[in-house]
Amino acid sequence: MTQENTTLIVGAGFAGSVMARELAEAGRHVHLIDKRPHIGGNAYDEYDEHGILIHPYGPHIFHTNSERIYEYLSRFTEWLPYEHRVRGVLEGVSYPFPINRDTLNLLYGLDLDEAGAADFFERVREPRDPVITSEDVVLNSVGRDLYEKFFLNYTRKQWGLDPSELKAGVAARIPVRTNSDDRYFTDTYQVMPLHGYTKMFEAMLDHPNIFVEVSVDFAGVRKQNNYCHVIYTGPIDAYFDYCYGPLPYRSLRFEHEHLSDVKQLQETGTINYPNDHAYTRITEFKHLTGQEHAGTSIVREYPQAEGDPYYPVPRAENEALFKRYESLAKLEKNATFVGRLAQYRYYNMDQVVGAALATAKQLIG
Ligand code: FAD
Ligand code: UDP
Repeated sequence: MTQENTTLIVGAGFAGSVMARELAEAGRHVHLIDKRPHIGGNAYDEYDEHGILIHPYGPHIFHTNSERIYEYLSRFTEWLPYEHRVRGVLEGVSYPFPINRDTLNLLYGLDLDEAGAADFFERVREPRDPVITSEDVVLNSVGRDLYEKFFLNYTRKQWGLDPSELKAGVAARIPVRTNSDDRYFTDTYQVMPLHGYTKMFEAMLDHPNIFVEVSVDFAGVRKQNNYCHVIYTGPIDAYFDYCYGPLPYRSLRFEHEHLSDVKQLQETGTINYPNDHAYTRITEFKHLTGQEHAGTSIVREYPQAEGDPYYPVPRAENEALFKRYESLAKLEKNATFVGRLAQYRYYNMDQVVGAALATAKQLIG
């Protein structure tokens, strides 16, 4: 295999790995690199030194409504059914989150049924038309008090921005319910890879046409690049040497902790702290993976501006800057850009798989 008949894929996360598998199955030779010392991108998982399966880059819960994407990944893993639940803590009391009927009853000492909860929201909401920002989304559906209690400070912490400075899509990820459903997601498929994400990636990349190298940065490879094609899944601004200036990506610092004498720390997989602490949430991994262990491992997420890029920041001005980079990308005949960082989209894992499958189909023809 020579470089001339090989496709270079930069990034071994969902985008790069699905692309690698699809091209390999179409008979192409693939060289997949990642600058990190492992595959899986941000979905990478590993056993910590205490033997608990953790997600070093924050909690990853798989959910999708797409049968096609679920079936595709099912080729590489068995699954463990898992429905994620989250509670939000206000002044030491934990409430179901997303906000549902029980949240209202507990918070305001009420006894609302479904119709009562719908009436409640109707009474307190501040109608917004058009709905443009994340502030609009929340005020429009649940009004100011719930906005200030659950959303305002969490969002400021997570993004370093006010909800009024973020596009509607950010807060619109969170539903509002009049029933007592306390699941975080309502997707048809809510599952975790039975043996973890990394094992699933290993199976996906186990193909004679795929050559994987980790701890290899594209910056070093691109100088002697004779590859017939490059598929790039890293930050798009880095690919173009930040020629229009840096695109804002939000970063996080993860603080992992093992509690050897605690079997279960919290009642749900994740607890959100909208108004207290410098971290946004604590996740306890055993909830997600179903693992049995005498101790438990948790992670706290501290948002920050600097550091590895984790989230595109959905604001009009950032999307305008992205469009300028995207125009450059379209001129690169021998390069394809796909994934959360390269497309600057707040994609969930299933959406990245969908984008990669569609992109691979176009490339293969
Ligand atoms: P990534 O996983 O970021 O992979 C890109 C890879 O490119 C990285 O491994 C990086 O090292 C590599 N790379 C970048 N530049 C270079 C270079 N120059 N040279 C070599 N390699 C390079 N989604 C869900 O569906 N459910 C969840 O519960 C969920 N939770 C999340 C929690 C957190 C804290 C975060 C940050 C994200 C979460 N996501 C979740 C989103 C999910 O992580 C992404 O949708 C998905 O992992 C993106 O895959 P990707 O391949 O596009 O990018
Ligand atoms: N959010 C909030 N309070 C919460 C949880 C979420 O204000 O308790 C807002 C916040 O702006 C967050 C967005 O809703 O960034 C999306 O939340 P999600 O849990 O989907 O974020 P992710 O898991 O992608 O970090």
